[in-house]
Formats: sequence, structure tokens, C-alpha cells
Amino acid sequence: MSKLLLGSRWIEIDLDAIASNTRIIKSMLPAQVKLMAVVKADAYGHGAVEVARTVLEAGADYLGVTTLDEGIELRNSGIDAPVLVFAPVVAEEAELLVRYKLTATVAGRGDLASLSDAAARLGEKVTVHLKVETGMGRIGCFPEQAGELAKEIVSSGYFDLEGVYTHLSAAADPGYTAKQLDRFETALEDIALLGIKIPVRHACNSTATLLYHDKHFDMVRVGTLLYGQYPAGMSKEVIKLEDPWKLKARVIHLQELPRGSSVGYSRTFITKRPTPIAVIPLGYVDGLGLEPAAKPAGLLDLAKVLAKVVLNYIGYPLERFTVEVRGIKVPVVGKIGMQLSMLDVSRVVGVSVGDEVTVPARRTTAGRRIPRLYLRAHRPYKITSLAGATEPVNELDTGFSFGTGT
Ligand SMILES: *Cc1c(COP(=O)(O)O)cnc(C)c1O
Repeated sequence: MSKLLLGSRWIEIDLDAIASNTRIIKSMLPAQVKLMAVVKADAYGHGAVEVARTVLEAGADYLGVTTLDEGIELRNSGIDAPVLVFAPVVAEEAELLVRYKLTATVAGRGDLASLSDAAARLGEKVTVHLKVETGMGRIGCFPEQAGELAKEIVSSGYFDLEGVYTHLSAAADPGYTAKQLDRFETALEDIALLGIKIPVRHACNSTATLLYHDKHFDMVRVGTLLYGQYPAGMSKEVIKLEDPWKLKARVIHLQELPRGSSVGYSRTFITKRPTPIAVIPLGYVDGLGLEPAAKPAGLLDLAKVLAKVVLNYIGYPLERFTVEVRGIKVPVVGKIGMQLSMLDVSRVVGVSVGDEVTVPARRTTAGRRIPRLYLRAHRPYKITSLAGATEPVNELDTGFSFGTGT
């Protein structure tokens, strides 16, 4: 039964690593600064529910998600910690938000109307955070409207105005960030001058939390760091995090192809010698080899991108997408298929069907159909079944070594 559950590919998520990262971040913050753990986008691909339970246990004070359904998923799993929904809800969703006791983002008068209607119908009060637009160009009222809106919120009787926040668009740029924070602080002053006390003011994401210790306000909103990832330009010297995420697959087929054989669609790879080719059950549908199209950063970068395209066109062997088998890096050869990919395993001694392969992939786009295997104390703890539910692991007899030595 458990063999079927795990299948031939899975993502290992080490909950202890996430707990450790949470404690490290929490310990960096002064005691009065709260930590909001951002668990949007299925906790950046790690699984929102298990991650939420883990970070709360490790000291997070608040949870953050983007959409209403993400908040409801947490509530339906029995999580009763405060949850802020970053995106304003549309009128049709307001009642659900109130029913599930989620914290609403208010970015303008329209949001107030639909939320107070819903609150009146249900006879409930809604906790809200007012969002101020300071330079992200996305969601929020302008700083000069914040005082007026705050006054409306507190005088309505349907709301508890708990927070005011903004979002930074280029936190690694101190100049631009200073401008954003100036606008934010102007809004906060206007609100304070009206005699309105805001217990939870917040602006910092991961990068800003590390860079601007004097701008933590009452809470920081951290995602990236929790998952052991470093914002651009930062490293283990700034903060020592653990990586909780590993995509794994098993070799499901192995064959020695003679010299001159085509591998994969469109015949983009031809063997130059007899070559052992291993197959793994992962493809682009699982997020493999998908990289966001990035705009070249300057002319030199553009030249590099163009050179690669040309070299690739004339069949020059480029540095390829590599995976790890028995501790050895091997190239994926041929085009990545929809659900199957081929590896040149010439360099792996004793490779055989069933071997574990570790595959790099973008976490947020890694397919949700891939079972998540949660580890605690380096042992299997829970698994997300093919049906989507996460269950305790009771009988795991797959013969693999789970997350050992990491
Ligand atoms: C995603 C997000 C964060 C967390 O950003 P990280 O850089 O991953 O820490 C914080 N606040 C808002 C509003 C977000 O959307």
C-alpha cells in the first residue's frame, strides 16, 4: 500500500529544517516584533498545512496567504492562528472570509462596503489590515488617503483595525526602499494624528527583514527564508538556513543504446558511443526544466543568451540540465518529455533500476500531483496521498533511504 502511495517520484520535505529556520529568524527579531510566516502558493510548494503547523509550533505568530481559498484550506485543517489574506476579496467572497475568521486586507472604500455588508449579515466583526500603496504599483490606498480610510474603518463598528501595511518592490535597493518606507511612515503618522492606535504595522519581506533592522515595525512577513532560500546577494554568512526540499525519482527503465541512437522527441540528442540511458518519471508537466523567461540584464547578458541559442542550434554540447544519481551528477539528454526524461548514466558505476535520483526544480512550479513525503527527525512522518489528503505514514516499506545525512 505505501509503495503505491509513494510511487516512483516524490518530494521530501524536512519539517525540522523549516522549524529550525523559523527559530533562527525569530531569534533575530526583538521580542516585541511578531513573525508572520508567509505560506502562500502552497507554502512556496512545500505544502501549506504541514508548513503552517510546523512554523506555528516553532514560534511564528501570524500566517500570510494571498487568496481566500488558501486561508480556508488552513482553517479546514484545524489551524486557528490568525491568517492575513493579502489580496482584497471580491464582494462574493466577503461572507466566506468573515465566516472563516480570516484577516482581511482593505485597499480602498470598495473593500469596506462588501466586508461590512457581510459582517452585518453574519453579526460578526471583521479584523482588517489597511494596505498602503507606496511603490509596488499593485494593491493599496495612496498614503494621503490612509488617514481618512482608517477613520472610516474604526467608526463603522463592523471592523477591528488591527494592522496597517505596505509591500516593498525592490527591498535590496536601499534608495528606493527608503522612499517607500517614507511614504509608509507618512501614512502611519497621519493615522496616529487622528488618535487611532495600530497594534500591528508591517512592511518587511525576507530581504528587508535582513537588511533594515530598524524598520521591522511590529511584525515582519517572511517567506523565502523559511524555506531555506536566500534572497539574491545574500548567503550563509548573513544567516545560516537549512534547505528542507528535495525532489526525487527512481530510475524506472535502463537500456544500453548503441552509438548513433536518437534519444527523445525531435532527435536533439544522438549518442556518440554506446551509452546507458536511464529513464525517470518526471517531465515538464511536473515543472522540470521550466525557467521563467528572464529579460537579459544588459548587452553582455543578451550576447550570452544569443550565443547559447546559436551554439544549441548548431548542436554544440552546452552545459546541460543535470540530476544526481548515486552522488554523481549526470546530464538529462534529449528533450524533456511531458512526464518522462532520459539521463546519460555512463559515469555511474553499478546504476540500476530503482536507484534514487535527486532532481533540481523550481519549488513553486513543482507539480502538485507529486506526493509530498514529510520528514521529522530524518524519518518519514506524513505523506500526501494521491487523493490529495495528507496522512500519517504507518507502514513505509519502500526500501529507500529517506533524507539521510542532510
Ligand atoms: C510573498 C509576500 C511576502 C514574503 O516575501 P518573501 O520575499 O518571500 O519573504 C511578504 N508580503 C507579501 C504581501 C507577499 O506577497
